[in-house]
Amino acid sequence: METNLWEKYKDTKEVFDFCDGYKEFLSNNKTERECAKFAVDLAEKNGFQNLQTLMEQKKTLKAGDKVYAVNMDKSVALFVIGTMPFESGLNIVGAHIDSPRLDLKAKPLYESQGFCMLDTHYYGGIKKYQWTASPLALHGVIVKKDGSKIDFVVGENDDQVVGISDLLPHLEKGPEKKDEINGEDLNIIAGNMAKVDAKDNKFKAFILDILKEKGIEEDDFFSAEIEAVPAGKARDFGLDKSMIIGYGQDDRVCAYTGLMAIMKVENPTHTVCNLLVDKEEIGSVGATGMHSKWFENTVAEVMNLCGEYSELALRRALNRSNMLSSDVTAAVDPNFTAAFNPATDAHFAKGISFNKFTGAYGKSGANDANPEFIATLRQKLDEENVAFQATEMGKVDQGGGGTIAYIMAKFGMNVIDAGVPVLNMHARWEITSKVDVYEAYRAYVAFYNIKIK
Ligand code: MN
Ligand code: MN
Repeated sequence: METNLWEKYKDTKEVFDFCDGYKEFLSNNKTERECAKFAVDLAEKNGFQNLQTLMEQKKTLKAGDKVYAVNMDKSVALFVIGTMPFESGLNIVGAHIDSPRLDLKAKPLYESQGFCMLDTHYYGGIKKYQWTASPLALHGVIVKKDGSKIDFVVGENDDQVVGISDLLPHLEKGPEKKDEINGEDLNIIAGNMAKVDAKDNKFKAFILDILKEKGIEEDDFFSAEIEAVPAGKARDFGLDKSMIIGYGQDDRVCAYTGLMAIMKVENPTHTVCNLLVDKEEIGSVGATGMHSKWFENTVAEVMNLCGEYSELALRRALNRSNMLSSDVTAAVDPNFTAAFNPATDAHFAKGISFNKFTGAYGKSGANDANPEFIATLRQKLDEENVAFQATEMGKVDQGGGGTIAYIMAKFGMNVIDAGVPVLNMHARWEITSKVDVYEAYRAYVAFYNIKIK
């Protein structure tokens, strides 16, 4: 059995310092667009060049160079070019930067009982009751007809939030049910003041005037992406501050650690790639999800600037790659032990979790990693003294989940699920252990330097 990692860290300063940066990242980046922008800003500060610019200027790339590409402001791929040709394979760490939330509808504004309301449609797997009676913020972008963009963030300063009301227990009939909110009833209260001189819809009119000051018309919500997310910062959790509570740690904990790790890579043997994708929570669909051809196209463009592109070389490069599908897994929960098999599931403070397979029931939908690949990983992680645990997610037949692993495996590459254990995953506020966050970062640094066989 793996030991509790706090015993390994006699000096916890490096763990706590790293996690302070992580908490700041979580607090400031609550949408895929915000995370993508964070990645680009960090990449540019660390000497990564924009692929698009290099292509336009007909520049070339060589070993040691760093380059990034952005897809529709919602997914990012970063590369450090290796000394070996692309055909020898890449070491790829991929995470997703979308998280469960409530999206505003295209026609969100309406009035009810003297309130101006905002209608939402939830995104990803949520327990709907959790989203009522708590402070929410709105984050997103509105694109005007002329193409100009208005960044829209409300609810992250200390004195203003929005939210969804819940029914008082006094008026609840029948036994208490845990999730009795309908998706259609997740309506945000936007305001309660009336525009006196408006003919009708006085409450909506009042809010429309406020939006007008920001340059927003009612019809603009059609060309907008506004997400309602939990308001407030990520914080230390526990009397010992050993944990972090924050929104969207699935999967921004793996996004942040993978991104920080690639910043440390200099002159690798094989080309390394950190991939941050969107839409995982709804099946990796769409142009910015993992099922899109964008990643493959981007690798082709990078190879082209290295003078290595051919259709066959691209296929070989992807086929021979190694990938960590870095996504969170469920930690054994002391309040819900019945859902877990503590002997085979992940625990806090035991390091990064490797799930050989995910899926549900008889491993349905799983990417089942090869033991030959796992052996290589064990060797490298032991060499670098990285703590890891070999886990499953929940009891057999309890349920299950998927990641982007099986999509990347379609290229024929070796893929395994690897990530940080999380308590109350998909809740508004998710919990991780600081040592696991730090060991995940160390694991990704080690992985980027693996020699591909
Ligand atoms: Mn995830
Ligand atoms: Mn998820």
